[in-house]
Amino acid sequence: MSNLLIQNISQIASPKPGVVRGSELRSLNVIEEGAIYIEEGNIKAVGQLSEVLNHVEGHPVILDAEGKAAVPGFVDSHSHLVFGGNRADEFAMRSAGMSYEEIAEKGGGIVSTVEATRKASKEELKDLARIRLQKTLKQGITTMEIKSGYGLDLETERKMLAVINELKEEQPIELTATFLGAHAVPKNSTKEEYLQQVLEMIPEIADLAEYCDVFCEDGYFTKEESRKVLMKGVEHGLQPKLHTNQFNDIGGVEMALELGAVSVDHLEVLSDEDIQKIARSETVATVLPGVSYFLNIPYSPARKLLDAGALVALATDFNPGSSMTISMQLLMSMACTKMGMSVEEALSCATQNGAKALEKNKLGCITPGFQADILLLDSDNYRDLAYFFGENHVHTVIKKGEKVWELRS
Ligand SMILES: [Zn+2]
Repeated sequence: MSNLLIQNISQIASPKPGVVRGSELRSLNVIEEGAIYIEEGNIKAVGQLSEVLNHVEGHPVILDAEGKAAVPGFVDSHSHLVFGGNRADEFAMRSAGMSYEEIAEKGGGIVSTVEATRKASKEELKDLARIRLQKTLKQGITTMEIKSGYGLDLETERKMLAVINELKEEQPIELTATFLGAHAVPKNSTKEEYLQQVLEMIPEIADLAEYCDVFCEDGYFTKEESRKVLMKGVEHGLQPKLHTNQFNDIGGVEMALELGAVSVDHLEVLSDEDIQKIARSETVATVLPGVSYFLNIPYSPARKLLDAGALVALATDFNPGSSMTISMQLLMSMACTKMGMSVEEALSCATQNGAKALEKNKLGCITPGFQADILLLDSDNYRDLAYFFGENHVHTVIKKGEKVWELRS
């Protein structure tokens, strides 16, 4: 691995290392007219070129940023990127005024994704995921969590997790796998039967995942059912995460905090009491504005969470049914306009705080000692990420010190 010197950067904007909550999130470390020196995939020096040059050894590759701004690579800590099929027709039906019930009667909804995912071979599923990951990389996501959960049987859940694990080796985005067998109850099964199956699946998939997740919601899994699944996961080395409080508050937050969950995700319906509890914990509150936009439901109270001192992360929830986006930039814009975040908070929540939700402590900052995951933007100002919305501002993607994507003019 060769060393890399990036010079002529208009602005290096990074969260402050270790600052993941509180009013300090409102400011970033910003260096105007700077340079970054990278050794062995890690950041060795950041600052004015004259200072950075003192750290340079040998003859690094030189990258002239030509006045672009640099920010950390985005960390998307919640996605469902591996799935079969496509639900564009369903979106069109919904947009044309058809109800969920009518769409479900036509075979739409999660059932259609489960069927398509079961039907696809592992190679087909991997090819689809690989294409999505290529698009994801261009949007500046350099680290991503992906969940299973469209198999709802052991064979397909294992197939999905195997795809994630194989793709770790085959493309540049750093991936983390989460088992979400308890995503829904499959057709032709009672909930009791399926819950038992999920518990039995856990030892069989534990070698393929790092986290265990459950959809804790009315009509899906209750608080106590969710607890059972998460505790079984812990027994097998899978740390808990939880989809909770999306449509209803059924006590998921408190249960997840009791288990020391790494994150609680969604939180569109959240009491002030739970906000305070989350704020006092180490659990990350992962908010997913793409879902609120796509389904036209309320946004989670991210402003209140931040003001209470909670550790908040922004993630895509990329999935075919409720958030078909891989643009962290668009989410940053939504976080500012719909959730009351400052641009600086949005950038921190999309980078260092996302990394917290995946327990990766050397990701998400442009600071010596951190992994060199860096984006060069087509702008000289990081604020364009949220301000000029719907545009992809990423020009160059650097992962572990290697240039892995660049915009061709
Ligand atoms: Zn999700």
